[in-house]
Amino acid sequence: MVCIYCNGETDVINSRPQKRLNQIWRRRKCQDCTAVFSTHERASYEDGWRVEAANGSLTPFLKNKLFLSLHTSCAHRTQAIEDATALTNTVISLLRTQNSQGLIEANSIVLTIQEVLNNFDKAAAVHYQAFHPL
Ligand SMILES: [Zn+2]
Repeated sequence: MVCIYCNGETDVINSRPQKRLNQIWRRRKCQDCTAVFSTHERASYEDGWRVEAANGSLTPFLKNKLFLSLHTSCAHRTQAIEDATALTNTVISLLRTQNSQGLIEANSIVLTIQEVLNNFDKAAAVHYQAFHPL
């Protein structure tokens, strides 16, 4: 990976597993300008997970779609982006324990989101349920 400031080559100077997020954090240092920045190695859920709708149709799991629906439900909050980011990670970690062979029922995603939002912000949960009835 190249430097985000000067495009130079970089070396990994530190790394750590982040178990809850199922990712690896790395600290990189540029060989040219000596700047330091972080990277995260994450699974590509878009490539691995499929969502099964009630009619049996399959679509890729889209993390951005999950984020957007959570952000919309949290729009009344002052830290909506940060909240939706954390909630997205929570929902994905819960789905990871539920799904088998990368196949997830759309309804179980909705149920998981409703449960997470119920514990987080009642107004967000009510908003989400209004747009995602089961
Ligand atoms: Zn650099």
